Amino acid sequence: MSDNEANRPAPDGDGAPVTGPVKLGRVTRLLQSPRAVWGAVAVLCVAAGTVGSVLGSQDVARTDAATARHSFGETAAGIASTLKLAVQREEDLATAATTFFADHPQASRAEFGAWTNWAHALRPHPALSELSFVAQVRAPELAAFKARVSGHPLPPAASSSLTTRPATGRPYTCLTVAALTRSPATAPPPNLDYCARTRTLVGTRDTGRRIYATIPTGTTVALETETPVYRGSVPPISVHGRRAAFVGWLRVMVTPGVMLTEALRGHTEGAVRLRYKTRAVNVAFSSGAQQRDAQSTTVDLHKGWTARIYGAPVPGGWLADPQARSLFTAGLLMSALLGLLIFVLCGDQRPQAPSVQSTDGEQPPSNEALYDVLTGLPNNALTLDLAKRMVARAGRQSGMLAGALFIDIDRFKDVNERFGQAAADELLKIVAERLLNVVRTGDTVGRLGGDQFVVLVESAARGARLDSLARRVLESLHQAVSLDGFGPELFTTASIGVAFGRYETPDALLRDAELALQAAKGAGKDRYTMFNANMLSVIEGRGVLETDLNRALLDQQFFLLYQPIYDLTTKRVTGLEALIRWRHPTRGILLPAEFIPLAEETGLIVPIGRWVLEEACGRAAAWNLAGHRIGVSAMVSTNQLNRDGFVTDVRRALQQSGIEPSLLTLEIAESTIMIDVAAATERLREVKQLGVRLAIDDFGSGYAYRSDLQKMPLDFLKVDRSSLAASDDEDYRSWLLEAILHFGRDLSLTVIAKGIETSEQLATVQAMGCTMVQGYFLGEPLSTDAVGSLFAANAPAAHAG
Ligand code: C2E
Ligand code: MG
Repeated sequence: MSDNEANRPAPDGDGAPVTGPVKLGRVTRLLQSPRAVWGAVAVLCVAAGTVGSVLGSQDVARTDAATARHSFGETAAGIASTLKLAVQREEDLATAATTFFADHPQASRAEFGAWTNWAHALRPHPALSELSFVAQVRAPELAAFKARVSGHPLPPAASSSLTTRPATGRPYTCLTVAALTRSPATAPPPNLDYCARTRTLVGTRDTGRRIYATIPTGTTVALETETPVYRGSVPPISVHGRRAAFVGWLRVMVTPGVMLTEALRGHTEGAVRLRYKTRAVNVAFSSGAQQRDAQSTTVDLHKGWTARIYGAPVPGGWLADPQARSLFTAGLLMSALLGLLIFVLCGDQRPQAPSVQSTDGEQPPSNEALYDVLTGLPNNALTLDLAKRMVARAGRQSGMLAGALFIDIDRFKDVNERFGQAAADELLKIVAERLLNVVRTGDTVGRLGGDQFVVLVESAARGARLDSLARRVLESLHQAVSLDGFGPELFTTASIGVAFGRYETPDALLRDAELALQAAKGAGKDRYTMFNANMLSVIEGRGVLETDLNRALLDQQFFLLYQPIYDLTTKRVTGLEALIRWRHPTRGILLPAEFIPLAEETGLIVPIGRWVLEEACGRAAAWNLAGHRIGVSAMVSTNQLNRDGFVTDVRRALQQSGIEPSLLTLEIAESTIMIDVAAATERLREVKQLGVRLAIDDFGSGYAYRSDLQKMPLDFLKVDRSSLAASDDEDYRSWLLEAILHFGRDLSLTVIAKGIETSEQLATVQAMGCTMVQGYFLGEPLSTDAVGSLFAANAPAAHAG
């Protein structure tokens, strides 16, 4: 081989060693080959993508862990506050009941029943299964005790005869005076001797100590407490004093499991262990399934109660976090794919910038002004855009439905007016947070504006999910709101309209949800209503009625009927209740039920109510001038009472007519005053200064507390026997009516029994000592002319007495 031959560079790929200049030439050639360059770029891309994926997924894992911790913190705080409130309520009720018996040591069943009705014991205390009072009855007192408890048959406590005498030879028995239970089946037997059942019970009379027991009840365990009660509430210092002041034992049974279930509602991954620990007792109750490695925290609920709350575990490490893992895998695949694409496509082509488009072919909305500044939620524009995307997505997937909850805060205007804009803003922020807490991942919460929010939900399960979501929203808003620097806690409620289905457009979805919202408001607010197709036609009709209602006042289409109210002692008409009617140009005479709710909603009730006051006072003036001393009553609606101009309206009606103010009675429904007791009290005091009389109408249908009513300058309670109780149990109704009469006497208020339709009903209320009555049996609502004839007949009630 010659030198020349030796120095000749070996051809590519022949396996011969490569010298320096040869290497350089090869690199130069490689660089000149686009495929090789892009191959290198592709490898770099894959490497960078892998590193990026690892870093990104670690970051996601960290964020997820922080989110999980934060979300658990919030969940735990929510659960703890629900439990705290429940414990506080049970304690408050027990304290109130103790005070009741300390003040009324000889209270009968009826009186205790009346008290529990006013205290409205069972409804706000779902965990309370029994509240009863046990007295120590000595043998000679047994007959008197029998009379005390059996004189007033009171459901649900049975009142079978007391034949008990302890076989123990003790000179006393410890018997139930009265019991409030959730069902008659769980009422304590009237002849059960508690001192025989719990031997230590009688000793607590001297020690003043409470005793505890846990009692298995079906699938759960109840906590029973027995607290000795002394006259004057405070246990005297000496044993002798305690014996002398002893009244009986208050027995309270609570089922903590119910509290726990309530607190865990909506927190499917949570579990709670509730412990009650005092010197005398240490019991624990659990609910929910505790997961392995669950996060947990212990919260002191005070008064001996603590709660240990468990939540979902925090994902450990980035590979253990499913989201981080998915991101890593996706990142790896993407970079490999990108590398391959670069290598395959870019060899000798110039790369083209990919065009970014939203999935439905439209440009996404601009980033400006997409979020509501106050709440941080998507604003109206973004919410509508998201709704549009959701409807389009649901349309593409069979079995998928688009749903919306249209949420409106009840009486938000009042908050704005009473507490100012800053408070109202804060309330909106709190509502937004609560909504975010109850929705699930994937749901969207948006603020449409003002006090209106929407939750967008994509769901395969028909209405059930939205139904439970709506309930969770209502519950979350029921929790008291404390606004920084705005005095006492507020209670807020919301109305919700729910629509779901396969919608063509987001507008149709939101329109249906809004119609359902209107229905929820019309039905009394603080509730949710599912959309149904009837709502569309009703709304169309309502629009017409609303236009007509606007014209009705101008065209003088309203008139009043007057229903007599009789005094059974004098057998004469003492007053007339003004009841409005609408002579509709095409639909005939309409009853208040057909237009008053709409008038309330539209605000037209204010001018209509003003007209009623002026018309009724004008008529009363004419009748009194004609020599008939008679008063009139006029209904006052919620919107009327809440208005600042209301007192002026009443004053004007009195001045224009010239009637004695005491001849005008304003009737306010119990439900109206319950909306905001403090504000109603204030307003009633203002209007009372004019000298008018005030009546609470439909008493017994709300839950006004005795202490609230005591503060109001009232004259009458009006009770409709037929609407007193949901049950058809006539005895129960009679008992309730009797309890209300008793209550009225106690507060020095005259009770008017209305809705009297038969002679038997009249006889019953009369036998109970009720002297003021109203109803079809005594007289239907009359026209002005018919009232004149009534006077001409000198007005004794035909049937009265
Ligand atoms: P309310 O204040 O309870 O008025 C009594 C209602 O019971 C009247 O119905 C009356 O006709 C009816 N009634 C009277 N006696 C009997 C009876 O023996 N049996 C039965 N079943 N019903 C009897 P009306 O006139 O349809 O009024 C219904 C409600 O509409 C009133 O209930 C009141 O809440 C409201 N309302 C009536 N007029 C006005 C008004 O001028 N302004 C406002 N805001 N509400 C009004
Ligand atoms: Mg009335």
